[in-house]
Amino acid sequence: MSTHDFDLCVIGGGSGGVRAARFAAQRGARVALVESSAMGGTCVNVGCIPKKLYSTAAHYAEGFDESRGFGWQLVDTPTLNWPALKTARAQEISRLNGIYEGLMSSAQVTRLHGHGRLLDTRTVQVTASDGQQQRLSARHVLIATGGRPFVPEVAGRELVVTSDDMFDLPEFPRRLVVVGGGYIGCEMASIFQGLGAEVTLVYRGEQILRGFDDEVRDFVADELRKHGLDVRVRTDVAHIEADGSDRRVHLSDGHTLSANVVLYATGRQPNVADLGLADVGIRQGKNGTIEINQHFATSVPGVYALGDVVGRKELTPVALAEAMALVDHLFGPAPGEQARQMHYDHIPTAVFTHPPVGTVGLTEGQARERFGAIRVYRSDFKPLKHTLSGSTERTLVKLIVDDASERVVGLHMVGADAGEIVQGFAVALQCGATKAQFDATIGVHPTSAEEFVTLRQIARR
Ligand code: FAD
Repeated sequence: MSTHDFDLCVIGGGSGGVRAARFAAQRGARVALVESSAMGGTCVNVGCIPKKLYSTAAHYAEGFDESRGFGWQLVDTPTLNWPALKTARAQEISRLNGIYEGLMSSAQVTRLHGHGRLLDTRTVQVTASDGQQQRLSARHVLIATGGRPFVPEVAGRELVVTSDDMFDLPEFPRRLVVVGGGYIGCEMASIFQGLGAEVTLVYRGEQILRGFDDEVRDFVADELRKHGLDVRVRTDVAHIEADGSDRRVHLSDGHTLSANVVLYATGRQPNVADLGLADVGIRQGKNGTIEINQHFATSVPGVYALGDVVGRKELTPVALAEAMALVDHLFGPAPGEQARQMHYDHIPTAVFTHPPVGTVGLTEGQARERFGAIRVYRSDFKPLKHTLSGSTERTLVKLIVDDASERVVGLHMVGADAGEIVQGFAVALQCGATKAQFDATIGVHPTSAEEFVTLRQIARR
C-alpha cells in the first residue's frame, strides 16, 4: 500500500492536465488535480474555443456581403452587437467549465482549488485564493501549467493588452493595432477586422507566420491585405503613449498609428512562477520551459511535465496526446491496447485567419533540406463560390513530394475550410501516402479539396 495520499497529483487543469487526470483515474489511479483558475485552461477560456467562436462571428460579415451575388437583398445593414457576442461566448465558456468540472468528479478525481507549488518532489502545497493552505503527497506529480502571453520591454508597455483580454474588451475597438506576426496575432487581426474594426498588423520580421511554408506566408499576407487588413512587415514599435483613452503607437519607421486598443501578440512564456522548480532542482531550458525526456520525466525523479509548459508544440491536441502517452507510461495502457508513444511528425494545424491556413507535414524549405530532391505541385484558383460572390479571394493548394520515396511529405492550403480539409489529409500523410495514391484517389466534385488529388503539373523541382 502506497504511503502517499495520491498516485498522481496534476498541477494545472487545462487541456493536458485534465486529460492526464481523467485517464489516470480510469486506470484506477488515485488522482488529485490542482487548478487556480477556471477549468479547461487556455484553450477553453482564452484560446482555441473563444477564438473560433469569434472567427465564426467575423465570417458572417463577409457572408452578408457575398450573399448579394447570390440574389439576397439585405434590407438593413447588419450591425454587430458586441455585448451580445461577449455574453453568448461567456455562457458557452462557463458551460464548458462546468463540463470539465463534471469530468473530474465523474472520474473521481479530487479537485483542489488554488495555486500548486512543489515543496519537495512528492509534496504539493495548495494555496487557495483566501490564503488557506493544504499539503498533499503523491507518488507522481505532473506539471501541466501551460503558458501565458509575453510582452517585451517597450516604452508604454502598460498601455497594451494581450490575447487574454481581447475576448472581453469593454468597448469594441473601432481601430486596433496588433503587434506580432505569429498565428495568434494574425488570427486576432483577421477576426477583429472581420467584425468591423480598422486593423493594422505590425511585425518586425520579413513576413508574417514565421515557421509556415514561405509560399503560404506570402499568399496569406496578400489575401489578408485584399480583405482590408493593413499588414506592415519589417516594422517595429518604438514606443506607445496614451492619447486620452486612445493609444498612439510610434513606429520605428517614423509613422504613428492611432488606435483604441493595442494588442501585443509577441509570443508566450511558460507558467512556472512560484512552482518551486528551482527549490526541488528541476532543470529549465530556454525561456523557463521545463526540460523533459521522451517519457515527459523532468530532471527530478517522480515529477513529469507536458503541454505548453515544456514548449514543444503548443497546441491543444499535442497536450492531449502527450497526456495519454504519459498515462500509458505511468499506469499502463488500457486493456487490449498498446502503450501510446508521442510522435511530433505530421501534426496538422490551422490558422483561423480569413481565409484560413491548413497545413500538415514539412514546408518546402524543410523538405528540400531533409530530402534534397523534391517536387512541388501547386495550384491557386478562384473557388466556385467566388464566381458569384464578388470576392476576389483566391485559394492555394500545395503538395510537396519526396522524389526518392514518392511520398507526399507536406500539404498546405490557404482557403475556406482549410483546417477541416487538412485534418482528413493528415491521415493520408500519417499513413505515408504517395503521390500516385493521391492521383488514384477520386475527387469530391465540386470542392476545393479535390484539387489535392488532381494536381498533375510539377511547379518546380
Ligand atoms: P493550459 O491549457 O494553458 O492549462 C494550464 C492550466 O494551469 C491553466 O488553467 C492555469 O490556470 C493552470 N495553472 C498554471 N499554474 C498553476 C499553478 N501553479 N497551480 C494551479 N494551476 C495552475 N491550440 C490549438 O490546438 N488550436 C487553436 O486554435 C489554438 N488557438 C489558440 C489561441 C490562443 C489565443 C491561444 C493563447 C492559444 C491557442 N492554442 C490553440 C494553444 C492551446 O490553447 C494550448 O496549446 C493548450 O491550451 C495547452 O494546454 P496545457 O494543458 O499545456 O496548458
